[in-house]
Amino acid sequence: MNPLKIDVISTFPGIVETFAEMGIVGRAFKQNLAQLNVWNLRDYADDRFRHIDDEPYGGGPGMVIKPDPIFRAFDDIRSRYPDEALHTIYLTPQGKPFNQEHAQWLSTQEHLVFLCGRYKGIDQRAREALVDEEFSIGDYVLSGGELAAFVMIDAIIRLLPDATSDGDSVISDTFPFGLLDAPLYTRPAEYRGMQVPEVLLSGNHAEIEKWRLEHRLERTKQRRKDLFEQYMRRLEDRDNEQGQ
Ligand code: SAM
Repeated sequence: MNPLKIDVISTFPGIVETFAEMGIVGRAFKQNLAQLNVWNLRDYADDRFRHIDDEPYGGGPGMVIKPDPIFRAFDDIRSRYPDEALHTIYLTPQGKPFNQEHAQWLSTQEHLVFLCGRYKGIDQRAREALVDEEFSIGDYVLSGGELAAFVMIDAIIRLLPDATSDGDSVISDTFPFGLLDAPLYTRPAEYRGMQVPEVLLSGNHAEIEKWRLEHRLERTKQRRKDLFEQYMRRLEDRDNEQGQ
């Protein structure tokens, strides 16, 4: 399988590179399951002070990233991969809320390009001409798109085949399964008077799975009624289909 190519265009490439060295994501890059290139937007500035921003037309506070460095960065990336379909993403609090289904779909793409904003944001013309999708990682405003890009990259990379040493643990995570994960325990069996539930020590796998499912259902119903209802609807639909 070809590695997933990921390009990130940023004004602070060091932030992205630091995250790219850690944990499952770092290992995936080392094992060539994915390839990362980080582009410094300032390298595409057209003045010797490497300015990439300017005042907003119409006035108001803050600065806006100019279109030219962004278009030139994209031209450069495209010229290096003339035969590849690039899927370009702009990180913005105005984007659609990123979720596990998006991560799943993006993990199957050939080549992703993340564009990180700063200041007030980027010139609208770059958004309209260059970007395929806009994503937000939540209803709050960050100072820049780098952390948001990396949240997405982490969620995508852990879904690549062979990215985790135990692929099953990814499937049993909260979102792919549709229910929040069950309570987790590890050694020791008793800690400061608190016991691990007996059933988890029993070695009876059927009972353990039953206990886990019950707790997943209960936890999801309590904390995320929306997910619980979706899950129950899916079960109902499946039962109806099987009954037909
Ligand atoms: N003026 C913009 C607005 O209100 O939509 C916010 C700009 S924010 C200070 C600077 C940059 O951080 C944005 O261009 C975007 O790339 C990134 N950013 C901020 N919050 C984000 C979020 N919730 N999700 C994704 N990216 C975000």
